[in-house]
Amino acid sequence: MRSVPSRSLKALLLAGTLLPVFLLASGAQAAKRISVMLLDGQSAGPYHDWRHTTPVLKRELEETGLFDVTVVTAPVWPGGDFADFHPDFSKYRVIVFNYDAPDWPAALKTKFENYMRNGGGLVVIHAADNAFPNWRAYNLMIGVGGWRNRTASAGPFWYFKAGKLESDDSPGRAGSHGARLPFQVTARDPSHPILRGLPPVWMHVPDELYARLRGPGQRMTVLATAYSDPANRGTGNDEPILMVVRYGKGRVFHTTLGHDVAALSGVGFITTFQRGTEWAATGRVTQKVPTDFPTSDKVSVRANLAPAAAAPHP
Ligand code: ZN
Repeated sequence: MRSVPSRSLKALLLAGTLLPVFLLASGAQAAKRISVMLLDGQSAGPYHDWRHTTPVLKRELEETGLFDVTVVTAPVWPGGDFADFHPDFSKYRVIVFNYDAPDWPAALKTKFENYMRNGGGLVVIHAADNAFPNWRAYNLMIGVGGWRNRTASAGPFWYFKAGKLESDDSPGRAGSHGARLPFQVTARDPSHPILRGLPPVWMHVPDELYARLRGPGQRMTVLATAYSDPANRGTGNDEPILMVVRYGKGRVFHTTLGHDVAALSGVGFITTFQRGTEWAATGRVTQKVPTDFPTSDKVSVRANLAPAAAAPHP
């Protein structure tokens, strides 16, 4: 019995010695981490379930050890209390939009434009490219978008045809997708830091393949596309899936992938999201390619993200 307290005492002494060193080490590491604001709080319908997807996105960033993630939940527009909503964008290297609202107060829009113009970072996930159809600067940041009554005035359709980026001024509503099926993603700029080292073609898990996106497309580089199959209500074109856009001195990574938790669990999504967020924040990518990255014909899923049942998208 006498050895027990003695062992506890030793453990205490050991902890007392090591704890300050440990805190110092983790403090130093935290100081080097990239500060991320993960913005949520609104979607156009129940099918983009930000309450369930935000924790998954947060975990995916944090598991790299590179990021400190703060979730900021905006009031609902219109009607919410924006008088008390003053997010300090300048405290963060990158803002991740898991967010789709129709508009913002003018002062908040100006604040975000200034943040981006001065070298901020933005990551646009899936339906975040539905947001703000009439905010010109936001549409310059995302390059292309869909739905919320976007038509020809939003800009041309953008897609790849015969291996080349095309802009198409024909009339029509922006935004469509077929049923959620697995599809191949094809690199168009494989030497970009976000894609460097990844296979040129990889299979994505069942997800919405966004098509008929329209927008200004200025200072936009399409990193990867996917074939929108007419057999699944598609266009027959290779649609932009991963993009980078410059706005002022700011950097934007835009992924149209990620409809629900199941889509967010695909290793292709996870890897490009982690790398795209680092690139938007710093202009560099230091992350290795994971060993479970999908191949051209086989999807890869991180099972620990346990897909929740998804509501159908109208
Ligand atoms: Zn969706």
